[in-house]
Amino acid sequence: MTSSSFTPVGEQVGQFYDQLMGAFDASLYGPNIHVGFWDSQEDSTGLEEAANRLTDMMIERLQLRPGARVLDIGCGLGGPALRLAKVTGAEVVGVSVSLKQVEKANLLAEEAGLSGKVSFQHGDAMNLPFDDASFDAVWMLESVMQMPDRKAALTEAGRVLRPGGRLALTDNYERETISAERRPVIEGILKRYLTQSPASFEAYPAMLREAGLRCAEIVDVSENTTRQSVRRLGEALAENMAELAAKVDPEVFAKLKPADGENMEMPEVGYLIVTARRPEEA
Ligand code: SAH
Repeated sequence: MTSSSFTPVGEQVGQFYDQLMGAFDASLYGPNIHVGFWDSQEDSTGLEEAANRLTDMMIERLQLRPGARVLDIGCGLGGPALRLAKVTGAEVVGVSVSLKQVEKANLLAEEAGLSGKVSFQHGDAMNLPFDDASFDAVWMLESVMQMPDRKAALTEAGRVLRPGGRLALTDNYERETISAERRPVIEGILKRYLTQSPASFEAYPAMLREAGLRCAEIVDVSENTTRQSVRRLGEALAENMAELAAKVDPEVFAKLKPADGENMEMPEVGYLIVTARRPEEA
């Protein structure tokens, strides 16, 4: 931790997403708020399809049995949870600190004819409104970096997971050492998105263990995800800037879009897919 690192808290994050609702509603990613996955620089898959591809990779990692009940912590607009239910038949409960997201996600579930299987509610990852061991699997898709304390969030996720159940998540990590000069620039950009400092790849397994979980796999997918998303999203945003700006509070919008001449690329920040499980009780 450095003096410039930022600690997001649930209420603030909820307000942030409530204010941004218009922008995400017109989302270039469909009902997803996460990066896409592209096989290579030449892969011309569109943003929404690439975002769904990442969701599918996460679905595989949960290794669900028929009839499974899954918790989606930080559910966004509900796109990933609905896809998970459609593909696997699982029952899914999603939580977000944004009331507007929860409303929208429940609407999308209804429209998809899935409201009997998938439901969304307001809830904070740091204090989940669920019993111990009440889910067969848990995922946190691009959400843990917006929580105030990674280890505490993972401990809480592990608490509601049944012994033997799996947890899959994506997270930012410090892929290249951040120089003293670049640190405030990077922390400044992350803070605009209410995102805390990137995690450490090497420290992840120990952090999971301290949270009562066991690491199954950690993969760096930066080259297939964030590297490409920043460029492709930039292009798409440039084309849709006027439409987006019209849907969001100008003050909020001004904070998010790159300043004139600003380069928002952060090669030091990589993207991980992490899979863990809760050990069977002895
Ligand atoms: N998983 C979704 C959304 C990712 S955006 C997707 O992939 O599309 C991050 C999400 O995490 C938002 O829904 C935000 O409200 C949620 N979030 C951030 N901090 C949270 C917290 N403390 N408790 C619950 N949800 C949180």
